[in-house]
Amino acid sequence: AHLDRIDAVDDKVHAFLHISDAEALKTAADVDARRAAGEKLHPLAGVPIAIKDVVVTEGLPTTAGSKILEGWIPPYDATLIERIKEAGLPILGKTNMDEFAMGSSTEHSAYGNTHNPWDLERIPGGSGGGSAAAVAAFEAPLAIGTDTGGSIRQPGAVTGTVGVKPTYGSVSRYGLIAMASSLDQAGPVTRTVLDSALLHELIGGHDPRDSTSIDEPLPGLVEAAREGALGDLTGLRIGIVKELSGEGYQEGVSARFNESVALLEKAGATVVEVSCPHFEYALAAYYLIMPSEASSNLAKFDGMRFGLRVEPTEGPVTAERVMSATRGAGFGDEVKRRVILGTYALSAGYYDAYYGSAQKVRTLIQRDFDAAFEAADVLVSPTAPTTAFKLGEKLDDPLAMYLNDVATIPANLAGIPGISVPNGLSDDGLPVGFQILAPAKADDRLYRVGAALE
Ligand code: GLN
Repeated sequence: AHLDRIDAVDDKVHAFLHISDAEALKTAADVDARRAAGEKLHPLAGVPIAIKDVVVTEGLPTTAGSKILEGWIPPYDATLIERIKEAGLPILGKTNMDEFAMGSSTEHSAYGNTHNPWDLERIPGGSGGGSAAAVAAFEAPLAIGTDTGGSIRQPGAVTGTVGVKPTYGSVSRYGLIAMASSLDQAGPVTRTVLDSALLHELIGGHDPRDSTSIDEPLPGLVEAAREGALGDLTGLRIGIVKELSGEGYQEGVSARFNESVALLEKAGATVVEVSCPHFEYALAAYYLIMPSEASSNLAKFDGMRFGLRVEPTEGPVTAERVMSATRGAGFGDEVKRRVILGTYALSAGYYDAYYGSAQKVRTLIQRDFDAAFEAADVLVSPTAPTTAFKLGEKLDDPLAMYLNDVATIPANLAGIPGISVPNGLSDDGLPVGFQILAPAKADDRLYRVGAALE
């Protein structure tokens, strides 16, 4: 049924870069046979899933939205894919994204735009616009995204879906094409909070192949979602982050946010205001740390090891000139912009002024969170300052695009978990997201509060 739906709508939505229909149908048939034989299967067995194209999948093309990886077929599976396959979820295909996950609109994909199913003239968010659009358009009930600065939560917000960025280290990064290694996390994109909890429990947990993986069991996420759905939040302290509201937030976004806070209060929670004074500098710190790490991670795309290889049309064919020709042809403008920024910020003489300072700001932001979580069990804010903007509207203005990440980035800098849950429609008739943040390793709180709002 989902493959039929993809057939019917994906020429308009363009959520998918590759559809693995034969493999999906085979997995579905296998699961049916195992179930018929009386085998006890995972609760998500047989439920189809779409995968952001930054996750490596054995035998299926994996491009990370870039020309430089066109035609590359990975020889292995990411850990989270192994877990998905083992549980018997049919993989429908790979979803569109901004090139190497750099962007907030999916317009930086080398393979064309994805359209927001709510209004095809608008962006589906980014970088994981394909996964969110696939779920919103009922092409897939579940999807995987990755979130380095908001790329699961912001697309969730603007497409009316649920998106979760887990605690850093709680879902293995093994087999994710790295953007910024100290910030990257994979997580669920779904239509309900309970679905996200089920998927998060499946893909999460310790993995010795990721050196930053937390070697502890996950808290009970499904249990927390079920408990939250009962709607009683008595005793829970909710903190409104002063710096993540007000000026710059669309009126309808703020109005829906306030209504949901009132609902949480009605469910028994107490509401306090908290201040995180260094959040003002989060965006600036992120846009130094992320390009620095990305410039280093992307050095491996050199025309020798993976995918595209371009030889210079004239002059000697030296290794350096092949690298330069390949990277010149294979990377898009946004990737080049960030590689140049990151290389500059890391260079001798500038390192302390830029990268070093940004790391200090990162520590201050972590301390802001520590203090805020003394006063509150969870923090809340709108996920993004506006609803989905029009395709093309911010494409030539990188700073305006970066500003869209103002509310999502602090969580990545601190490694804490966050969820975006649908928060009704703004006055323009477009979906709004409600963000909930919790301390590291307390991802269960996201599900409890998220399910109570649903
Ligand atoms: N919009 C952010 C950026 O462009 C988010 C990236 C991400 O989370 N992958 O960097």
